[in-house]
Amino acid sequence: MPRLVMKFGGTSVADLSRIEAAAARVRREVEAGHDVIVVVSAMAGKTNELVGWVRDTSVLYDAREYDAVVASGEVVTAGLMALRLQQMGVDARSWQGWQVPVRTTSAHGAARIEEIGTEAIAARFAQGVRVAVVAGFQGISAENRVTTLGRGGSDTTAVAFAAAFDAERCDIYTDVDGIYTTDPRIEDRARKLDRIAYEEMLELASLGAKVLQTRSVELAMRYKVRLQVLSSFEDKPGTLVCDEEEIMESKVVSGVAFQRDEAKMTLISVADRPGIAAAIFGPLADAGVNVDMIVQNISEDGRTDMTFSCPVAEVPRARAALETAMAEGHINYHGLDADTDVAKVSIVGIGMRSHAGVAQKMFRALADEGVNIKVITTSEIKTSVLIDRKYLELAVQALHDAFELDKAG
Ligand code: ADP
Ligand code: ASP
Ligand code: MG
Repeated sequence: MPRLVMKFGGTSVADLSRIEAAAARVRREVEAGHDVIVVVSAMAGKTNELVGWVRDTSVLYDAREYDAVVASGEVVTAGLMALRLQQMGVDARSWQGWQVPVRTTSAHGAARIEEIGTEAIAARFAQGVRVAVVAGFQGISAENRVTTLGRGGSDTTAVAFAAAFDAERCDIYTDVDGIYTTDPRIEDRARKLDRIAYEEMLELASLGAKVLQTRSVELAMRYKVRLQVLSSFEDKPGTLVCDEEEIMESKVVSGVAFQRDEAKMTLISVADRPGIAAAIFGPLADAGVNVDMIVQNISEDGRTDMTFSCPVAEVPRARAALETAMAEGHINYHGLDADTDVAKVSIVGIGMRSHAGVAQKMFRALADEGVNIKVITTSEIKTSVLIDRKYLELAVQALHDAFELDKAG
């Protein structure tokens, strides 16, 4: 029988009545002749609550116990979903990550799926069980410990199952009815896209559009999973993430993404010598700081300023790593400035490969609104800028307008 993966996010399983509505959708697909793997998130807000409990119990918490606690949200919804389906007369059972098993690396809190054991679930399907409900976001390490895949990780569970079980499609049911040109919570003229290329979605996700976890798009692209994002509340078509050849629309810029909580760190007056970048960014990487943009300023008298951006939450870790490197004599600087009131805004589009002047248009649109740009980075299909956080909404709206994203291409 053809297989389908259906993933329901937190708001789609937020309470028992929503679980019932989601289960009704699953039953429809079963009746249409599919064997279904349902991947569930924790109820909306649950994971945040669990993370809070861990932090309130222990400041320097054991990451293995963090995972043991936060993985529990999905365990509850998986069981409830299986129970609801059984009530509806659908033969279903639940699976926790370790039971499948979903084998992952040991990077607790940010583990990567290495392998999904398909035998047990496939055997159940062969016996006539029509639905396997899988707890998203979790797996098991080689050390036999529960792991989690990073926030938003149930998307990745869903895509990984779609690849492992050769599913016809992977449907991501959520609280928006598709992928928009930007977050509809910020720009009410954001437009729903019928289709988006894997590469564009990958950039949008990694630049902050949390509608899909970045890793899930990476996997979908690698294994050619047909990935669809759609509403769990309304019956209407969603957005298909697919190869660029399958897309007719040709806009230069497809979307605007943003990251609200960024920080701009500047090392003032560092000795400018071969190996200095490695001496700075090595310890930051070792400390798990996700450095994004990097700018080395003009050097004077053999010294230079080095600026980089990272998430605000990682500033204390970055500071500690740099201070240790200084104390140990690996680097030498005169000051460390942290601007924690910045945000990153990015435009993304595969059309940028073949069009000149896109970045200039972006800078002009921001200048016209009086938004000062602090740092710029570009790559083949995106341009990102760091700006004051208070201008974030204004900047997103100005760019959406400048590139006429509210109009179909
Ligand atoms: P779920 O709990 O179902 O996984 P998420 O909250 O993780 O849902 O993701 C859905 C949210 O992503 C939407 O409510 C929306 O605010 C946000 N979002 C950000 N960027 C976009 C975008 N470009 N298109 C659609 N939604 C977006
Ligand atoms: N419940 C997890 C989170 O909130 C995983 C997910 O919903 O995708 O991050
Ligand atoms: Mg999500």
